[in-house]
Amino acid sequence: MHDQARFDTLAIHAGQEFDPTTGAVIPPIYQTSTYVQDGIGGLRGGYEYSRGGNPTRTALETQLAALEGGELGLSFASGLAAEDALLRTVLAPGDHVVIGNDVYGGTHRLIRRVHGAWGVRHTTVDTSDLDAVRAAIEPSTKVLWIETPSNPLMKISDVAALAELGRAAGVLVVVDNTFASPALQQPLALGADVVVHSTTKYLGGHSDVVGGALVFGAGLGDGTGRPELADLAERVTFTQFAAGAVSGPFDAFLTSRGIKTLGVRMDRHSSNAMAIARRLDEHAGIERVYYPGLESHPGHELAARQMSGFGGMLSISLAGGGEAARRFAESTELFQLAESLGGVESLVNYPSEMTHASVKGTDAEVPESIVRLSVGIEDVADLLADIDGALARL
Ligand SMILES: *Cc1c(COP(=O)(O)O)cnc(C)c1O
Repeated sequence: MHDQARFDTLAIHAGQEFDPTTGAVIPPIYQTSTYVQDGIGGLRGGYEYSRGGNPTRTALETQLAALEGGELGLSFASGLAAEDALLRTVLAPGDHVVIGNDVYGGTHRLIRRVHGAWGVRHTTVDTSDLDAVRAAIEPSTKVLWIETPSNPLMKISDVAALAELGRAAGVLVVVDNTFASPALQQPLALGADVVVHSTTKYLGGHSDVVGGALVFGAGLGDGTGRPELADLAERVTFTQFAAGAVSGPFDAFLTSRGIKTLGVRMDRHSSNAMAIARRLDEHAGIERVYYPGLESHPGHELAARQMSGFGGMLSISLAGGGEAARRFAESTELFQLAESLGGVESLVNYPSEMTHASVKGTDAEVPESIVRLSVGIEDVADLLADIDGALARL
C-alpha cells in the first residue's frame, strides 16, 4: 500500500489485503491451530503453529502498527496480557516502576500484586506534574507508565516532556493510549518508547471482544531506530510466543473490523461528549466536570496541543457526594450501568465500586462522588435527554 496513506485510509487498508486465493475482499478468519509443511521445515508464509503466528492476527498486528506510526504491533488476549508481557520482559526482581496515580485500576493491581509479589517495587505519582515524576525516579527505575487522559479523572500528562525526562533518566517510557486511541493521539510521534492498548475499548469499539496490543516505534529493523528498543521489541515478541497470551483468530478479526471505523467513531464520540460535558457543567448538582475539551479543565491547552480531539470519556463529581453519585449512575436509561468503555453504546460506571474497586484503600483510590461516562455514538439529543432525566432525579 501507498506509504504516505493517511490515518483513515490506513485504518481500512493496512494489513487488510484481499485474499490471493479467492479474491475475498476481507482477509479470512484463519481458524486453525497449525499449518501443513511442504517437507520438514517447509513453512508457507512462515506459519508453523498459531501461538507463534496466525494470518488473521498478522493482519491485525500490521494494522495496529500502522495506526500508531510504529513498526511492530503485537496482539494479545487482553490489555492486561499485553501489559504483563511487556513488564515481565523489562523488569526483574528489585526493579522499580513509576506509574500515574489514577491509572486503570487493573494496571495498578497487576504491578502492585502480581509483579509486586515477585519483588518489583512501584511509586504512584501525578504524571501531570513533571517535578513529581522527576523526584519519583530512582536509580533502579526501569519503567515510567503514563496514561493520558487518565482514568477516571481525565488528567492530561505531557507525553513529549515525560518522554524527554524518561529518556534522560534511561527509563522506558510507556503510554497506555486506550482512552484517546491513535485516531486522537499518537504517543510514538511524541517520543514515547512503547504504546499499550486495551483493544477491548475504542479500537474494537463494539463491546464484543476483549484484546490488547503493544506497538513499538519505527526504525527497529533497519537500524535507524534506537538499538535498545529493537532489542526490547525482539524480546517481547519472544515473550508473546513463549508465554502465549495471544489473541485468537476470531478476536483478531473482530478487532480489525472495528478499527476500520475508528476515525469516524472518534469524531462522533468527541462531539457527543463535548455536548454532554457542557450540559453537565451548567447544573448545580454537578460539582465538577472532568473533560479535557472544557476550557476550565487544567489540561485543556495541553490536550489541544497533543491530541486532535478530546475523546468520548468524561467524569463528574456530584455535589451530593457518594449517595448522589450512586443515584445518578443508577438512574440513566440509555447510559447503561456497566464496566468497560469505548463502545458505540453509552455506558455509565461508578468507579469506586466497579472499575476501581481493586484500588480502594490504596494511594490510587477514587473518590465516592465520582461517576464516569463512556459517551457512545447515539443521537446526541437522546443522550442529552437521558442525562437531563438523571439530573432531574438528583
Ligand atoms: C480496560 C483497560 C485496560 C485493561 O485492558 P483489558 O482488555 O480489560 O485487559 C488497560 N488500560 C486501560 C486504560 C483500560 O481502560
